Amino acid sequence: MLEDLKEIVFKANMELPSRGLVTYTWGNVSGIDRATGYMVIKPSGVEYDSMKAEDMVVVDLLGNHIEGNYKPSSDTATHIELYKKYPELGGIVHTHSTWATSWAQAGRSIPLYGTTHADYFYGPILCARSLTEEEINGEYEKNTGLVIIETLTGKNIKPMSLPGILCTNHGPFTWGKDAFEAVHNAVVLEEVAKMSCYTELINPNVKPAPTAIADKHYLRKHGENAYYGQ
Ligand SMILES: [Zn+2]
Repeated sequence: MLEDLKEIVFKANMELPSRGLVTYTWGNVSGIDRATGYMVIKPSGVEYDSMKAEDMVVVDLLGNHIEGNYKPSSDTATHIELYKKYPELGGIVHTHSTWATSWAQAGRSIPLYGTTHADYFYGPILCARSLTEEEINGEYEKNTGLVIIETLTGKNIKPMSLPGILCTNHGPFTWGKDAFEAVHNAVVLEEVAKMSCYTELINPNVKPAPTAIADKHYLRKHGENAYYGQ
């Protein structure tokens, strides 16, 4: 079942260690087949070295295990909430990559300081609020998804214009039209997080880039009259 998607999700997962975004078994990538409504995700706790495409787990958006020899990633419920809310999402990534996680642990959104950021993220990369004690002790992973949605809807943000977020005390989630684009955005987010940290180190009084820079760079790539690329 969904062998092509399993292959894609497997390869996308393998990109996380090769791009230096994960240590041990941390991190996970999923992809969704909108025709069946089934999601394919990394198995929980399986080493990247020994992982195979056939080890990917198929679940539905109610969390039912549909196919696979392993339990799905422990973050499955977070992915499910995001896929349910946003039909435009085709892939989701979660990592504990060092720089993005450092901003998340600091509880800070990443200000838009330059064009690298603006090419991908139309505005600051938001840091979602901390979960309450009830939310942590309740359906923790599901509530993580809900607080991401709360953060985006609270600012009236379309997820594809800001394809990633930081969860306070935790780390980043990114997404895209498919699993590879979600990984790409995770790599960009990590780089932007690193650059922004150095930017503040070099100039603690630095101000965000002018709105015109954000508009120019994001919209020339993603806007109605986009002209960047071939
Ligand atoms: Zn995590």
